[in-house]
Amino acid sequence: MYTLDLSGKTGVVLGVANQRSLAWAIARELHAAGARLTFAYAGERLKDKVQALTDTLAGSALLECDVTNDDDIARLFRRSGELMGKVDYLVHSVAFANKEDLEGAFLDTSRAGFHLAMDISAYSLVRCAKEALPLMPSTGSILTLTYNASQRVVPSYNVMGSAKAALEHEVRQLAYELGSKGIRVNAISAGPVNTLSARGIHGFLDMLQVARDKAPLRRAIEPAEVGRAALFLLSEMSSGITGETLYVDAGYNIMGI
Ligand code: NAD
Repeated sequence: MYTLDLSGKTGVVLGVANQRSLAWAIARELHAAGARLTFAYAGERLKDKVQALTDTLAGSALLECDVTNDDDIARLFRRSGELMGKVDYLVHSVAFANKEDLEGAFLDTSRAGFHLAMDISAYSLVRCAKEALPLMPSTGSILTLTYNASQRVVPSYNVMGSAKAALEHEVRQLAYELGSKGIRVNAISAGPVNTLSARGIHGFLDMLQVARDKAPLRRAIEPAEVGRAALFLLSEMSSGITGETLYVDAGYNIMGI
């Protein structure tokens, strides 16, 4: 039972690859509260799988967008505007690094691998925000997904830690620049969840077990918990909050050991 009513609200969601994606957990909450959504998928290979999911959420649209391509991003928001009239919410749940850069030594990161991870996982938020802005009403809200390896060393997370540190800075910088337009920008720092991207990180299952053992709640988080926190940060429930990174990690980040 929802007390939040988002009917009449619209959002663009980037980052659904399958039913385990955090973006999907967020989208389900937004849709259940009444919002209409445009989804972006990355590459033909994912289209059928993502379409099978988005077809279950009435009123949704599906468009292709590779965030390394400025024209794709511009087209995504232009078409979303045509289809939905405006964009109240932007959900950026996108990250990528080459597999070889998510294992072994950070010292071995190639220039190309560093650029790719930064481009997809950090810069893309700036570009998406720029294209979304003309379509956003004065209560617009932007959300991205980060991880605590931005602040602390998590072996194997390597270049993605650099990308997440950049991303969290972008959240603050964009929150400052867009605040005068009434648009808020926040991040959720999620605890480990077994998704497609997460499984690409060497030793991910160990990370998950450490989180389970050490988090104050003594368990890993559920994707739906990220979904509900996203609903809060995107909606007017959090109208006084911007530039924040909210931990949804069963409390793991407060621990000193
Ligand atoms: P996921 O694999 O389901 O989602 C990642 C998405 O990024 C996919 O939909 C993929 O298609 C998209 N993507 C990759 N390259 C792209 C490109 N060039 N253009 C457009 N989209 C592209 O995994 P997830 O765990 O749901 O990841 C979502 C976000 O959550 C990421 O930013 C990730 O770093 C973050 N996060 C995940 C965890 C976790 O443990 N799963 C923890 C903290 C933060």
